[in-house]
Amino acid sequence: MQIRLQELATKPGYHAQFDYTIDLSKEEVGFEFPFQQPVRVEGEVSDDAGAITLSATIYAHVTTRCARCGKPVEYDKETDVEFRLVKELESDDADRDDLYLVESEAVELDDILIPELILDMEMAVVCDEDCKGLCPKCGQNLNHGSCGCVTREVDPRLAVLQKFLDNKK
Ligand SMILES: [Zn+2]
Ligand SMILES: [Zn+2]
Repeated sequence: MQIRLQELATKPGYHAQFDYTIDLSKEEVGFEFPFQQPVRVEGEVSDDAGAITLSATIYAHVTTRCARCGKPVEYDKETDVEFRLVKELESDDADRDDLYLVESEAVELDDILIPELILDMEMAVVCDEDCKGLCPKCGQNLNHGSCGCVTREVDPRLAVLQKFLDNKK
């Protein structure tokens, strides 16, 4: 959906609701393609005495992998977006994050909403708070049991000695 601020400005009390889906299956986030299912956006654009407000909720089903063990993880997320769309910023508006500057004649709603969804993505999702992850040595999934590797941190000074001893073997 396209928003034309110029046009909206001439329609006092304008109010439009939207509810549609976007295909973001090709959108890469952190080396993953988390949006295997269409992302739904629902909200409204409205004029309140010349102030154009965009408020929306983005509903996404996220398919990703556990940051520790790599197991597939899926979950639903909701991202709320609320902006006042403005044609220009006043000097004291610089650090207001509730304003969205529309520099051209029209702005595509997706161009406002999609970056907000990406920004809201969780950085490191885990399959379980207690996920033990993979053994850094042999790669075994430690949730399925211990592999027996010794992975304790070796003191760097002792590491030199360890290397010496290993070479002796
Ligand atoms: Zn995990
Ligand atoms: Zn191991």
